[in-house]
This record gives sequence, structure tokens and C-alpha cells, in this order.
Amino acid sequence: MLQGKVALITGSTAGIGLAMARCLAGKGASIMLNGFGDPDEIATLRDEIAGLSGSRVMHVSADVSKPDEAAMLVDSATREFGRVDILINNAGTTYKAPIEDCPPEKWDLVLALNLSASFHTIRTVMPQMRQRNWGRIINISSAYGLVGGTNRVSYVASKHGLVGLTKAVALETAATGITCNAICPGDVSTRIFYKSAKDLANQEGITREEAQARIAAVNMPSGRPVAPEQIAELAAFLCSDAAAEVRGSALSIDGAWTAR
Ligand code: NAD
Repeated sequence: MLQGKVALITGSTAGIGLAMARCLAGKGASIMLNGFGDPDEIATLRDEIAGLSGSRVMHVSADVSKPDEAAMLVDSATREFGRVDILINNAGTTYKAPIEDCPPEKWDLVLALNLSASFHTIRTVMPQMRQRNWGRIINISSAYGLVGGTNRVSYVASKHGLVGLTKAVALETAATGITCNAICPGDVSTRIFYKSAKDLANQEGITREEAQARIAAVNMPSGRPVAPEQIAELAAFLCSDAAAEVRGSALSIDGAWTAR
């Protein structure tokens, strides 16, 4: 399905980004990985993902919270692969505290990574996508991009902003072969989720499964987290020809969290 396409995925050495890299590679895309981690582990990941499709996989550890590094990442991918057809803005972070305890530098960092990084990568990739009249831009927002929440003001504001950026770019490209959409996951079963469940299980003397269900049930009517692989399949759908007229959407995958 994605043979010949090149996908750049920010924050793809772990978690949801890594699941998307594996999924798109499995469908034939070449992949530019980005993110931090142990160089040997990243080299192993590169080989593993390359083995899924036989396509090339590269890695650049740019810090996309820095404007010049975000733009440089797009340029590096273009230089290495000759093009970027799919851009997934996934790298993100959070800071948990009530607003009066949120240091301004944490606000700046969360906004820089969760929102401004996407501005910089999109504006850098757009000319070449317009030239080929084809592109897929996917911004990984959150359920917190659609509804509020306490003690995470920078996260909620940045993820709402990312949905706004998505709509604006989708309108600017509406008459082209380029689409721009957001995915808004609820709780996802990444390492942090499992660690929180393990800690809760130890604290409360309950099983890990009970702890996972208890954590998920706080926000998710489904009572269970979303798997990274499920988000990856949604992203792959957005890259398909079938999704060519899905434009400016903020697609929820959240166990009915935001349906209430
Ligand atoms: P994660 O922490 O597991 O992985 C983050 C990835 O981003 C890693 O590869 C890391 O090296 C990379 N990274 C971190 N800072 C970076 C930077 N400055 N520049 C480049 N790369 C950087 O994250 P995750 O849980 O998989 O989340 C991915 C995205 O999904 C985030 O935008 C997050 O807000 C969003 N999200 C996550 C959940 C969840 O429950 N995990 C829920 C909703 C939305």
C-alpha cells in the first residue's frame, strides 16, 4: 500500500511513534526515525523495522522542540530519501501541576514540542508536497486536544492548539492531494501506562490487570487503554487513498472518553 512512499515520524524510537514506524514499514514505506535513546538499541530497531519491508530505515536524533532542528530533520530526511511523502508529528511531552505551580519554562517547553515543532516541520515539508501534489500530514494530539483536564494546563493548551493547526493546514491544502488530520488518543498502553499500573498494583496489593483497568477507567468508559498498534493502523488508514478526502479531522480513538 505504501510502497515507494517515505514517512518521517517524530519521536519514533519508543511508544506510539515506534508502533507507527513498524506499521507503515510493514505496508512498504521507507522510514525516517527520530527521537532519543541508546544508539545500539536504535540501530537494532532500524534493522528490525527495515526487515519488515525491505525498505530503508534511517534515524536522526534531532530535538524537534528546537525550531532549527525540526526544520533540519525534514531536510535530512529529504536529502537521505529524496522526498518526504508522509509527515507524522508525534513527539510530545507533558508537565503535571496546577497552573500556579507550572513554571513558565515548562510551559514553553511543552508548547515548543507539542505544538510549535509541528509548525516548523509542516512549513518545511509543504513546498515539496505541493510540488508533487501528494502528502499526508498526521498530528498526534490527544483526548486533551478536545476536552479539558486538570493539572496539565500546558498539555491541554498545546494539544488543542495542534487540532487548530491541523484544521488551518487542512483548509490551506483542501484543493490539493495533501491531507492534514489529527489523531486524538485516550490512555494508551505504552511503557508509562504499564509502569503506573505496576506501581498501583504494588501499592494496593492488587493484580497488574486490576490496576490497569482501574487506571483506564478513570477517563475511559471502555475501561481499557488503546494499544499503540491500533493508533498505528488508524494512521496507516489516513495515509491510504481511501482517506484522500478525510481532511482537517480530529479523529478520536479513546474508548468513548470524549463521547460523554
Ligand atoms: P513516549 O514518551 O513513549 O515516546 C516519545 C518519543 O518521542 C520517544 O521516541 C522520545 O525519544 C521522543 N522525544 C521526546 N522528546 C523529543 C524531542 N524533543 N525531539 C524529538 N523526539 C523526542 O511517548 P508516547 O506515549 O508514545 O506519546 C507519543 C505522542 O502521543 C505524544 O505526542 C503524546 O502526547 C501523545 N499521546 C500519548 C498518550 C499516551 O497515553 N501515551 C495519549 C494521548 C496522546
